[in-house]
Amino acid sequence: MSLIITDDCINCDVCEPECPNAAISQGEEIYVIDPNLCTQCVGHYDEPQCQQVCPVDCIPLDEAHLETEEQLMEKYRKITGKA
Ligand code: SF4
Ligand code: SF4
Repeated sequence: MSLIITDDCINCDVCEPECPNAAISQGEEIYVIDPNLCTQCVGHYDEPQCQQVCPVDCIPLDEAHLETEEQLMEKYRKITGKA
């Protein structure tokens, strides 16, 4: 599953440069995560990097986008072109 940014976001821009998949961007009001690009950092890091840096802890898992570890790896391969 991907992560989602809640409306507690204070638009600090700290998470955006940390995402290895460029899944985070500034939305109309708050920052947003593209579920097609977020792998929960699988393939890159052990922990979701955006969660690590968010000062207000507003990036939970998105229950609407459930994916297995293998599906996340597959997404990682598709995004990066790595086998
Ligand atoms: S969990 Fe990782 S891939 Fe997903 S948005 Fe956060 S930094 Fe990007
Ligand atoms: S780090 Fe947290 S508060 Fe800052 S822009 Fe990202 S989601 Fe919003």
